[in-house]
Amino acid sequence: MTTSQLRPRAVGERRHRALVWDNHFCLPMKLDDNLLELEHLHRVHEAGIDVVSINAGFGPMEWTEQIRLIAQMRRYLLRNAETFLVALSVEDLKAAKRHGKLAVVFDIESAQIAESQLDLIQLIYDLGVRWMLIAYNRNNDIGGGCHDRDTGLTDLGRRVVEEMNRVGMVVCCSHTGYRTALEVMEHGSQPIVFSHSNPRSLHDHPRNIPDLLIRECAKTGGVIGLTGVNIFLGEGPATPQRLAEHVDYVADLVGIDHVGLSSDYAPSNSALNAELNSMQSYFPDGHGYDRLDILPPSRFFEVADALADRGYSADDISKVLGGNFLRVAETVWR
Ligand SMILES: [Zn+2]
Repeated sequence: MTTSQLRPRAVGERRHRALVWDNHFCLPMKLDDNLLELEHLHRVHEAGIDVVSINAGFGPMEWTEQIRLIAQMRRYLLRNAETFLVALSVEDLKAAKRHGKLAVVFDIESAQIAESQLDLIQLIYDLGVRWMLIAYNRNNDIGGGCHDRDTGLTDLGRRVVEEMNRVGMVVCCSHTGYRTALEVMEHGSQPIVFSHSNPRSLHDHPRNIPDLLIRECAKTGGVIGLTGVNIFLGEGPATPQRLAEHVDYVADLVGIDHVGLSSDYAPSNSALNAELNSMQSYFPDGHGYDRLDILPPSRFFEVADALADRGYSADDISKVLGGNFLRVAETVWR
């Protein structure tokens, strides 16, 4: 593969270049706002992204609201089937790419749905949820959050990890406390991901993760999805070059097979900021949540260029762009 094959091209030609996967894209969590912003997915498609995981719930959000959100998004995607494909299998991902479509999966940022009923994990998997994280910043009945006093994975948490492994849903430990994350990796039997987390060695933020967790994640066969969120990259603006620096750090620590990209991008930043400000305990003061600036997935190709400038081969860059997340899907999805 040459670096030119990594570039976005006309939709009809996308089958000829590397698979590009954004593992976390954020639309509004309120039904009305979400409906208004679904058309942003056309821009994700036009930008040359092949697979996107869309946020369908987080933190304390009621599970019934999550199901309603997924129902609304699925209906929109299925009605626009000339552009989108709701992916349920690795074969679906490959078919979408062959046909120049954007493959869409869903993710949920908190396993609190299992507090209501463990059986719901299978249900949301069947609807297209392909990763779920344990605890969103604060503790829940499953495990500890990264902005809380982490008391570890609970008995229910162990059953959640077992059930996610059974149904084929990838366990994510972003936003989760460090102790809980280590216990998830000890208890689980499948590769895990930090779907959108950056290295704490490069910037000291509670949402970033220490080298120990990066190493343990790699040992499971998993992937760390690095974000272009300014407050996780360090001081100053978010740039593709700085995101490439984070990729370089993790690749140097555990190898190129364990790095991916997750934009964490929200098209409507003002809606996101209003949401964050209304949830003070989840986003404590002093951690920069009031000054978010995030690189959209359309800039992943500039990250690829920055990696090429750093001497990475086209094959290695294609792993970062999507090959590594594809490998995890091939291993974990049923
Ligand atoms: Zn998040």
